[in-house]
Amino acid sequence: KRRNPHQPEFTQAVQEVAQDIFEFMEDKEEYHSQQILRRIAEPDRVVSFRVCWEDDEGHIRVQRGWRVQNNNAIGPYKGGIRFHPSVTESVLKFLAFEQTFKNALTGLPMGGGKGGSNFNPKGKSDREVMRFCQSFMTELYRHIGADVDVPAGDIGVGGREIGYMFGQYKRITNQFTGVLTGKGMEYGGSMIRPEATGYGAVYFLQEMLKHRGDEVKGKTAVISGSGNVATHAAEKITQLGGKVVTMSDSGGFIHDPDGIDQDKINWIKAHKTHRRGRISEYADEFKGSTFHEGKRPWHVECDLALPCATQNELDADEARALVANGCIAVSEGANMPSTLEATHVFKDAKIMFAPGKAANAGGVAVSGLEMSQNSERRSWKEEELQQMLLDIMQGIHRRCISYGDQGNGYVDYVKGANIAGFKKVADAMLAFGVV
Ligand code: NDP
Repeated sequence: KRRNPHQPEFTQAVQEVAQDIFEFMEDKEEYHSQQILRRIAEPDRVVSFRVCWEDDEGHIRVQRGWRVQNNNAIGPYKGGIRFHPSVTESVLKFLAFEQTFKNALTGLPMGGGKGGSNFNPKGKSDREVMRFCQSFMTELYRHIGADVDVPAGDIGVGGREIGYMFGQYKRITNQFTGVLTGKGMEYGGSMIRPEATGYGAVYFLQEMLKHRGDEVKGKTAVISGSGNVATHAAEKITQLGGKVVTMSDSGGFIHDPDGIDQDKINWIKAHKTHRRGRISEYADEFKGSTFHEGKRPWHVECDLALPCATQNELDADEARALVANGCIAVSEGANMPSTLEATHVFKDAKIMFAPGKAANAGGVAVSGLEMSQNSERRSWKEEELQQMLLDIMQGIHRRCISYGDQGNGYVDYVKGANIAGFKKVADAMLAFGVV
């Protein structure tokens, strides 16, 4: 905390990982003497820059942009770009740090990074978003590259924003390379990338349940968020025979006891993405459902919980409510949605708990596959990619078990993910010596 004053999200993330890593390193002198954890917790570089753009009224707006390149020991920096007013250097450093472990866990050759801006795309016209994205890329382009750093989407950055940024990169550099992932299918995107994070979080949940001889079928799930990750998690739960009863946005949550089926999910996708509407309008559209303004869905009775909106959206009291209401498993679609205290509640109650760095790695994994397809200048088939995503999520689950099995029928997935991710990056760093 002394090294990083005023960066609470970053110090929270490092603290969480350090607890498990210190235990693992106890009898491993080399990791200590080489200061490996301290080196991973100091980003390779943090670039901060001014992003100037003109709004529709002709006013000049000034925003701040960042790219945090945390670690490239096992591959080019890789991680999303977030546009949201809550973005700070601390948030991006936490995300880039977590990304380093997550990317290692996938088994693919990708380092960790993250970027973004405090720009708020909400309420902006298409032209304004385009001008902002172009201005953002006009600085970012000099720091990235297909073999250097490959950004992707995140909160507030979807297909539209990736398109504007890729177009600007291509225009400035006169190169068509796989410098961004999450691209449209017409210009080098990969099948199932939009679905990958949400589907992956449910595949991981399925593996945890399978490990205990259980399944998703017949279970009730509570989901937060209504963006890319949340809607696809809902879709996969439904496909596997589960029932989703809540979704949310920053205005509150909707509760639909009849279940949010595929038709309703399609309505939410169109409503949030194309019409840029609010989730509250779901209650007007579908009878029997209710909207709870300013509230989060964690007090609703369920077997499964999938926080898929944002960081620190599930606190200790809400974790206790979930446990008391019979929730048996939590899979984090978002990054660090549970507070540190909430994760302790889940751990103490010995319910299955999959941290984001394991559960939501499906997105970056398929981004890694998008990079491979771009390098080959080929597109793989949807069925092949579906199978690869499932294989990767099963592989991550196995790696978590290797380091997190407590031997009494309980798997500490947080510890398993932290150690497995750390070990791969740390061993590569040891091979490079002091650099
Ligand atoms: P989207 O922008 O598509 O959706 C975000 C959702 O979360 C929206 O419903 C939004 O509501 C809600 N939300 C955002 N901030 C808050 C807040 N402060 N309180 C309550 N709700 C909020 O983002 P994604 O679905 O892509 O990302 C969701 C999470 O998943 C993030 O943590 C992201 O880092 C993580 N993630 C995403 C990956 C991806 O492939 N997209 C990959 C791995 C992780 P509103 O519309 O009101 O803003």
